[in-house]
Amino acid sequence: MFNKQTLRDFDLKGKKVLLRVDFNVPLNSNLQITNDKRIRETLPTLNYLIEQGAKIIIVSHLGRPEGKVKPEFSLKPVAERLRELLKRPVILTGDVAGPETFKFVRAMKDGDIVMMENVRFDPGEEENDTEFAKKLASLADIYCNDAFGTMHRAHASTTKVAEFLPSCAGLLVEKELEVLGSALENPKRPFVVIVGGAKVKDKIGLISRLIEVADVVMIGGAMAYTFLRAQGNNVGKSIVEKDKLQLARLLIEKAEKQNVKFVLPVDHVVTGEFNFSAESVITSTKKFPRTGIGMDIGPKTIKLFTHYISRAKTIFWNGPLGVSEFQKFAKGTNEVAMAIANSKAYTIVGGGDSAKSIEQLNLQNKINHVSTGGGAALKLIEGVPLPGLQAISEKL
Ligand code: AMP
Repeated sequence: MFNKQTLRDFDLKGKKVLLRVDFNVPLNSNLQITNDKRIRETLPTLNYLIEQGAKIIIVSHLGRPEGKVKPEFSLKPVAERLRELLKRPVILTGDVAGPETFKFVRAMKDGDIVMMENVRFDPGEEENDTEFAKKLASLADIYCNDAFGTMHRAHASTTKVAEFLPSCAGLLVEKELEVLGSALENPKRPFVVIVGGAKVKDKIGLISRLIEVADVVMIGGAMAYTFLRAQGNNVGKSIVEKDKLQLARLLIEKAEKQNVKFVLPVDHVVTGEFNFSAESVITSTKKFPRTGIGMDIGPKTIKLFTHYISRAKTIFWNGPLGVSEFQKFAKGTNEVAMAIANSKAYTIVGGGDSAKSIEQLNLQNKINHVSTGGGAALKLIEGVPLPGLQAISEKL
């Protein structure tokens, strides 16, 4: 259960709030924002702070400038979009907790917003440096973390800074923790889980944990080939993590022991090369060509997956079921996304590429919760402590 202090536990009038957000939005080559979801998701917190008369000092990272000032990672486009969305001034300072930031912060009135430049321009950020964290803290009275997508990182502005200020979670973080934490504690059944993506290695803990709570676990994407191979199937030249075969077997056994249905693809869209326009054929798992590469789940698998989805009362989905960046091999992912959106179950999509697919298909309003955090969401479900969350004070 959620036992951390939240913004509602503080009297915010006239207080300087150091607000860590995750405005790490995608930019095109002209440095224009191609998806502003991460900015829009923090509007409830920002509006709440404005209504309460706080002075808001925004801290965010953007991309990976690796501790150096790189103009292409400037938060300029973000500040501009935020002004449009809030319809109020947002001052972007030219430094990271430097003299210019301090100057603007000193002049703030209640409800004002000052945003410092990309916090990752300072090497102290990713080093979780104490002196840098102290400098950030000295700007404000209260620290609020609303950067759910970054909570699995122990950085100065997500973790260390909380040692030097009273701290709390923002409204977005609160929502994420409530949904991801509690939905899995007592799910309505059948609870159906779909996990795809590139590597078993990245999702072992997640799958293992989900086997403990779900009724059906369905696997697609490249990782399915490691499981299929572990069962003794030929999967041609599809990606197989040879060092994870034993582990894949153990997960299948665990599912059997727990009476959880573990569903693997029964057919595939197979090509001779890894290419966006490669010729493809559909084959069953049994007849997988010796030199073929599995690029997507086949029509029978889509039918099988959507059958379980249609009977579910709770659904959790993470990871594409094929190479969904290539239009030709996105069918499995898209069909499953649509089936989830059309189901009457309580539906949760765990960030990353699956969240992107939901947005591209414009299905976000038909999903109960699309998480803003890929890695953070998966770690939370897995039960791995998030440093950013641990750092926030517990409720008094
Ligand atoms: P993840 O970050 O683990 O969710 O993995 C996402 C990546 O998995 C995407 O880049 C997909 O292209 C990739 N992927 C999914 N299915 C396949 C496949 N059959 N073969 C190769 N890569 C795949």
